[in-house]
Formats: sequence, C-alpha cells, structure tokens
Amino acid sequence: MEIYEQLKKYSDDVRRDEPMRKHTTFRVGGPADFFVSVKNKDALVEVLSFLHENKVPYFLLGNGSNLLVSDAGYRGVILQLTDELAQIAFDGETVRAGAGLQLMRLAAQAAERSLSGLEFASGIPGTLGGAIVMNAGAYGGEMVQVVESVDLFFPEEGIQTLTGEEMQFGYRHSILKEKEGVVLSVVLRLHFGEKETIIDKIADLKEQRRTKQPLEYASAGSTFKRPEGAFAGKLISDAGLKGYAIGDACVSEKHAGFLVNKGNATAAEIYRLIREVQQKVQQASGYRLETEVILLGDFE
Ligand SMILES: Cc1cc2nc3c(=O)[nH]c(=O)nc-3n(C[C@H](O)[C@H](O)[C@H](O)COP(=O)(O)OP(=O)(O)OC[C@H]3O[C@@H](n4cnc5c(N)ncnc54)[C@H](O)[C@@H]3O)c2cc1C
Repeated sequence: MEIYEQLKKYSDDVRRDEPMRKHTTFRVGGPADFFVSVKNKDALVEVLSFLHENKVPYFLLGNGSNLLVSDAGYRGVILQLTDELAQIAFDGETVRAGAGLQLMRLAAQAAERSLSGLEFASGIPGTLGGAIVMNAGAYGGEMVQVVESVDLFFPEEGIQTLTGEEMQFGYRHSILKEKEGVVLSVVLRLHFGEKETIIDKIADLKEQRRTKQPLEYASAGSTFKRPEGAFAGKLISDAGLKGYAIGDACVSEKHAGFLVNKGNATAAEIYRLIREVQQKVQQASGYRLETEVILLGDFE
C-alpha cells in the first residue's frame, strides 16, 4: 500500500508536499513529502510504530520556533500533535498537559489560576513538547524547574514515564537530544501565588522582550547557544556583525544573537549567514558558536 494511504489510517489530515515555511517561525522551508496532524495518543503510537518498522524517516514538529528547514524541504513524514495531544488539566498545583499544547497558552492558563512557576515561559513561542526537548528557558527560569514527569514513546521500548531527573535536563539539553523518542504529555508542579504578582511578572517579561528582541521579524529566537563564559549576542556584536546580511537573512541590529528573515530570505541564505557568523566570531574571539536552532533537510 502506498505511504499516503497508510498514513490516512491514522489521521484525517494528511497532506502531500506541504510547504514547511508555513510551519516555521523563520518562515522558510520547502515541501515536506507528507505532513500529518495526529489527534490522539493511540493514533500517534500506531503511526510512530508503523514509521519505525518500515524505516520511513519522520520528524516531530512542535511550533517550528527553533527550526531551520532547507529550501528543498524534507524527504519523510512530519508529525504534528493536535486535539487530545494538546489538552490541559489542572489539579491543585499539578498540571498535566499534552505535548502539542502552546507553552504561552499553558503559562496564561496557569496565571489565570494563580499558579506560579511558568512566568518565564510566557513569551516562548513553542509547544510544551518542544520546550521539554530543548529544556527551554528564559530570565532565570527553565523547564527543568517545573517538570515532575514526562510520558514518552520510545520506538524500541514503548511508552515510558521518566522523572525530571531521568530526563537529564541541562542547558538546552534533554535525554531526547541523544535518544530517539517522542514527548506525549507532561506533569508539571507549580505553586499557588498571588495572581496579580504573576500577571505583573508576565507583563514585565513581555515588555523586556518587546524592547530587546526583534519580534517584528521572522526568526527562531537566539540562533546560537550561549557559550561558556560569554554571550553569543555580545560576541557577534563585538565582531562587527550587527546588521550584516546575506540577501534578506540578517544579523538583527536590535539583538545580534537573533538572525532574522527580513522578508524573502531563503533557508540557504540563513544557513550561509550562520556559517559566516560562526567563522567571523571564531576569528575575532576564539569562541566557536554552536547552533541552538535545529537544521532539518539537506544544506550542503
Ligand atoms: C521570538 C522567539 C523567542 C524565543 N525565545 C526563547 C527563549 O526565551 N528561550 C528558549 O529556550 N527558546 C526560545 N525560543 C526558541 C523556541 O521557541 C524554543 O526552543 C521552543 O522550546 C521550541 O519549541 P517548538 O515547539 O517550536 O519546537 P520545534 O522548533 O518545532 O522543534 C524543536 C525540537 O523539538 C522536537 N520536538 C518538538 N515536539 C516534540 C515532541 N512532542 N516529542 C519529541 N520531540 C519534539 C523537534 O523534533 C525538534 O528537534 C524563541 C523563539 C522565537 C521565535
């Protein structure tokens, strides 16, 4: 049976040649052979088992907010988690949420219930699943601080629940950086606080982002990880690269740690800019910047 027909067994939303620029915050990326929205855990486990057994390449997409997809796109199946896989349930200070849930929505709903702990995440434009994989963090907060346990699917072992400790969180790191697996849902431990204080904190962090980050342009946030003992943005700025551009791919003037798409950049241009920035920063400072952004597809 053709792959398309197989995939239709697990989802009523299967697309061919789906432009990935529609699904990434960089607004670049060519077509994915197949794009599948998966609505519940059973369907997800079945489709993942099918893809694994048949050695069909697949990629779990969150919100595409830390992703650079090549102009040639992706030869395989993109999976996106929706519906039941993006639900949320509160029980006192404990929250269980699906991996497909938007982190901003989660933070806002927690604040609405006077639950503190996710204020730092209120401006991160990813899904909960993506935030777990990346151990997303900002302004002194990180996912590791609020995760109690994570339900995952591993193709070889099946569904497992790992504690926060077993997730091996580190700076922009989790066990999923080393081992193939999919986040299904997460249990978070928050704590009751004063609603007004929580809401004020969120508003304050939002204002800090608005003034310091180039939110008016498409980007994937900080392109590079923070090297030990330095800041990527400062190293890039000190190398004289603020505003440096290849086509519409540009080092932000406002925050040099962000590479932005000023309109019609291609993935190839952004990629070349990444490489040039790395080379020039290394020449100027000796630091080798590592990308935080994940590359998908062929680039060289
Ligand atoms: C304007 C802007 C500001 C940002 N600010 C911050 C910030 O302050 N702090 C920060 O840490 N990041 C920041 N980011 C980067 C980004 O939002 C985070 O890294 C986020 O956690 C990525 O989530 P995502 O759902 O978009 O993941 P994607 O970019 O879609 O994917 C990231 C990785 O996670 C994997 N993945 C996604 N979902 C699952 C799943 N369910 N199971 C297994 N793997 C999965 C993907 O396969 C991929 O490897 C920012 C980005 C932008 C555009």
